[in-house]
Amino acid sequence: MIQLIRGFKDILPDEAGLWQMVEQTAIRLFTDFGFKEIRVPLMEHTELFARSIGEGTDIVEKEMYTFADRKGELLTLRPEATASVARAYIQHKLYAVDPIRKFFTIGPMFRRERPQKGRYRQFYQINAEVYGIDSPLMDAQLIFMLTTLLARLSVPEARAHINSLGCPACRPQFKEALLAFTAEAEDRLCEDCRRRRTQNPLRLLDCKVPTCREAMAGAPALPDFLCDDCRDHFEAVKTGLRDLGVDVVIDKRLVRGLDYYTRTTFEVHAGGLGAQSAVAGGGRYDGLISTLGGPATPAVGFAIGFDRLVEITALSAADHDKRPDIFVAALGEASRAAALKLSSDLSMAGILTEIDFSSKSLKSLMKRADRLQAKFVLMLGESELESGAAMLRNMGTKEQIPVPLENFAARVKEILGEA
Ligand code: ATP
Ligand code: MG
Repeated sequence: MIQLIRGFKDILPDEAGLWQMVEQTAIRLFTDFGFKEIRVPLMEHTELFARSIGEGTDIVEKEMYTFADRKGELLTLRPEATASVARAYIQHKLYAVDPIRKFFTIGPMFRRERPQKGRYRQFYQINAEVYGIDSPLMDAQLIFMLTTLLARLSVPEARAHINSLGCPACRPQFKEALLAFTAEAEDRLCEDCRRRRTQNPLRLLDCKVPTCREAMAGAPALPDFLCDDCRDHFEAVKTGLRDLGVDVVIDKRLVRGLDYYTRTTFEVHAGGLGAQSAVAGGGRYDGLISTLGGPATPAVGFAIGFDRLVEITALSAADHDKRPDIFVAALGEASRAAALKLSSDLSMAGILTEIDFSSKSLKSLMKRADRLQAKFVLMLGESELESGAAMLRNMGTKEQIPVPLENFAARVKEILGEA
């Protein structure tokens, strides 16, 4: 039997209701904050990700699904959405009329990392991005929107960690200090970190190897190197968050695995997820649009790990698998023929109706209605057809009500409304 690809997964009908609920909660909230949906392709030219995420990053170096198509063009299944959204913003000149744009996008991402709990090779993200606003108040509101979503989904122990990564004016001084510090500690660093020193020194700060963590314990911290503008910006983000009542942890060691971040960066961790506790990450990327050839445009955004969000929401959420309002049990050829229109009318009237058009016995139809936990069963046989009224059975109270077939859906709707 052919199995699915390792690290990929099916979202089965029993779970899909929860995914829909999470998605709808996010869409409603983001829409109320002025965000509009944008849908971008799953595949892009490899160069888009190499240039934006950065050559020395884990994603570009070892996690991307890249291949040459039949004409030899290098293509990549997107490992994240921000680069594509930025590309669309530039390509369609979405900045022309009004450079300020707020987007959200939801969909699958692909990274070839080691599969484990909470880590897949195809996973899903919910992204929100703001272009054209450099105010720190926007950063604060964005983080507030994110934590509000987690609160609405009853995510336990959600906690935002924030840091500032500075800007091209002040980050070089920090990098220098970091290199000077690690020059002495080099022999205690792992192989990856030794490579990071030359390629991407910021990444030295979040290596998970215990000996590296020890070696880096006294390393210089980014916030101590911020220029005046970056320091003011960071302070204003913190004040904004305080005004909104968002509790944050200032984490001087927080850096992120993509090169395009500047200034504010953040991650949200939650309880109940084990080692993979990050449910969302984001920050400012004021340099990204110009790096990709667009006009200088400040931007800030986040990505939520949809799979992890569903996983914790499942721990707290009620059953999101919908029960049928009505199970139609039609007995005999003529009844089934009549049920075709009757059941379609019920569905059209917004009543969740289940019918299988099989020639099963009443007993086995009732069994199936029970298994589906239908709230009502509509019984339609020859005698009902003759009398012009079907029998509606309330599966909770066992009460049976005859319903005239004339103006049927409206009558049923009324009865369901009263039940
Ligand atoms: P991590 O440190 O867990 O690898 P990351 O920094 O690589 O995360 P981002 O690129 O910031 O992740 O993506 C944002 C969110 O997407 C993460 O916080 C996480 O919830 C989720 N995510 C990232 N990679 C995966 C994956 N392979 N499987 C499932 N969810 C993921
Ligand atoms: Mg990662």
